Amino acid sequence: MSGLTEQPTEQLSAQGPTRGDELSGMYGPENKADVVIIGAGPAGLSAATELRRCGVQSVVVLDREPVAGGIPRHCDHYPYGLREFSRLLRGPAYARRLVVAALAAGVRIHTGVSIQSLTIGPVLTVTSDAGVRVVHARRVLIATGARETSRAARFIGGTKPGGVVSTGALQGLVHLEGINPFRAPVVLGTELVSFSALLTCRHLGIRPVAMIEPGASTTAFWPARWLPRILGIPLLLKTELLTIEGESTVSGVTIRRPNGDIERLNADGVIVSGHFRPESAILARSHIELDRHTGGPVVDQFGRCSDPDFFAAGNLLRPVETAGWSWQEGKAVGHAIAQSLQGKLPSPATGIAVELAGRSLKYVVPQRIVPTDVPPALDSFQFRVSHKAQGRLCLSINGTRKTVKSLSTVPERRIRVPLTVLPRSPSGTATFELVESDR
Ligand SMILES: Cc1cc2nc3c(=O)[nH]c(=O)nc-3n(C[C@H](O)[C@H](O)[C@H](O)COP(=O)(O)OP(=O)(O)OC[C@H]3O[C@@H](n4cnc5c(N)ncnc54)[C@H](O)[C@@H]3O)c2cc1C
Repeated sequence: MSGLTEQPTEQLSAQGPTRGDELSGMYGPENKADVVIIGAGPAGLSAATELRRCGVQSVVVLDREPVAGGIPRHCDHYPYGLREFSRLLRGPAYARRLVVAALAAGVRIHTGVSIQSLTIGPVLTVTSDAGVRVVHARRVLIATGARETSRAARFIGGTKPGGVVSTGALQGLVHLEGINPFRAPVVLGTELVSFSALLTCRHLGIRPVAMIEPGASTTAFWPARWLPRILGIPLLLKTELLTIEGESTVSGVTIRRPNGDIERLNADGVIVSGHFRPESAILARSHIELDRHTGGPVVDQFGRCSDPDFFAAGNLLRPVETAGWSWQEGKAVGHAIAQSLQGKLPSPATGIAVELAGRSLKYVVPQRIVPTDVPPALDSFQFRVSHKAQGRLCLSINGTRKTVKSLSTVPERRIRVPLTVLPRSPSGTATFELVESDR
């Protein structure tokens, strides 16, 4: 990648990715491609590049946004790119590099295209300025990422003024539209992205009134939690955001403090950050099995969905990881798709189901393992916990339990266990449980 000049994404878009209104013939005369990838973020673009590297002929990436690159396009800050390019990059520069790499590999990228439905075949219905079109593929990779939970889904009461945004929407407004939506917002949440929101605010001279966290400590790990103090922003722990006030725009919020007191803060905006959910709306309408824990698709160790013509990678699997992680996952799943096209993946029929017991573990990915010697794309089980917890992570196979490792962890901390913890030819059900020491 060295020596690549960084061009504005819009310029790339004109040279490389094609807008949806130029769809005619984009998948060849019969609307067919070997692999269609939904989502031009780090996971989709790395998978596409890898597929071409593996010799797959026609690889098409579709994205509903006007410009390819995914979430990093919105995030005009570090750190991106270390794993992928051995360089510390800001989000937009990183996104451009991913697009350049995919185009150089011979991937076709089409923006302004929304996927409406996925059906057995695999067949996709897509819409764009050119209208509705049916596309046939040999395999489909779904890499639609994740989104933050909205105000409505968090049941925050009050009126419905403008000026209530997610971190992603804030960064889109600021970095893509050049809009500065408020001067003195409150920030709800303390995940890593919440600190990214603070940095965006600082960049614009916006001074948040407070950062509000219902839990007893910040969700993000320690270096981030010093940021509000450095910036002089009050960090209010064990505090609930009760209502948002205002007519056309936010005029204030009411909060409940740890001692039960209700207070009012003057504010002209609310940044509702974190609590990511997979962007799985198209899957929810499809025949593909969804996992009730992650909200994303059920996959095996190759990223293969319940319909083995469909694969998934990136934050759709498990919100939320870093861009480098999603990129790596896309690359590995892209490789698995190439193997699947060559008939080298084992039959999906004989898998062992991976389940969770108890309330401490929030999710596990992958949720199904197929016995095989073929190296996996997802080489470890990935977990998160739902609350601060300490104890033994145990695995039961058909009723026989063993301790895998001791854990002392907090929500949003990455927990990994190699797939090799399973017996070589597992059958039946594998159940993970975090047995807490203080219970
Ligand atoms: C505010 C914020 C700050 C962040 N900061 C960092 C950071 O500093 N460093 C870091 O490493 N990571 C950071 N991340 C995380 C990182 O951006 C993600 O991990 C990464 O983008 C995930 O890649 P992805 O390909 O899975 O999904 P995404 O990047 O979300 O890409 C998904 C793509 O799918 C498209 N799509 C979705 N549905 C459809 C559909 N139906 N039809 C067509 N297209 C569709 C979307 O338009 C999007 O382009 C940040 C995330 C956020 C939200």
